[in-house]
Amino acid sequence: METGVRRIYLLDFGILAGEPGWFVPNPMLYVEMGNVQELERKHKWIEIPVSGALVEHKDGYVLYDTGGHPEASKVWTQATFNAFPVVKFTENNRLENQLKLVGLRPEDITYVVFSHMHLDHIGQAYLFKEAGVPLVVHKKELQHALYLYWMGKVGGYQPVDLEALKGANWFPLDLPRFELLPGVELIWVGAHTPGSMMMKVTTDEGNTYVFTGDFTHIPQEIELESKGWLLGDFEEFLSGMKMLKLMLRRPRTQAILGHDPHLWEKHPRAPKFLS
Ligand SMILES: [Zn+2]
Repeated sequence: METGVRRIYLLDFGILAGEPGWFVPNPMLYVEMGNVQELERKHKWIEIPVSGALVEHKDGYVLYDTGGHPEASKVWTQATFNAFPVVKFTENNRLENQLKLVGLRPEDITYVVFSHMHLDHIGQAYLFKEAGVPLVVHKKELQHALYLYWMGKVGGYQPVDLEALKGANWFPLDLPRFELLPGVELIWVGAHTPGSMMMKVTTDEGNTYVFTGDFTHIPQEIELESKGWLLGDFEEFLSGMKMLKLMLRRPRTQAILGHDPHLWEKHPRAPKFLS
């Protein structure tokens, strides 16, 4: 049965680096690091891609996440940039140039969906404000981001990003699940942040892709059912993880982790696509 989803493009917004402990509680368990002694001696950080997904549907284009601000080193707070330095961001990684790869401009996007509002996910959403493109977010996420900002607790939510989106065309959802378009479902999971949402997309060809946002950053979190310092709420994480694992038992269903260090070995970048 056709859903109207023709293609899914993965957009490349550069690379961040961070301590392995952000992702798994015990970096010693990060088996892919190889030699543990080596890891300890070099205190090696890992590099993670920053990415987004663009769904081409017969009824419009859905963009899930927008990457970080192009001038991150200047506009993010110093402490945050020190924790998550941007190690690669070129002209090509700008959202407008990623969209150009598939012949689109920001005003051609029908809906922008935020997995959550951390700096590496909403940093280029300012491109959509003037055109009034709907920004879809979970209500809990918007509330939490603004609450922390108001309290002066600047971390993952950056003032530069929040200020840029003041008065934008927001659509806060207060539901556990919402079908944005046929075959495109938004699913609240929380766990990483209070309003984290996954996006489940089923294509005309019958394949299902679950975009996990930062509910999971790296595949080891799924294997270990565990998360490092980026965990917000463990009970939400555990029930969300079990739900994800049930979804992944279905045929022709796979998870896509936007920060998977091996993302670009597993899946093609735009203008190539999933279908
Ligand atoms: Zn992220």
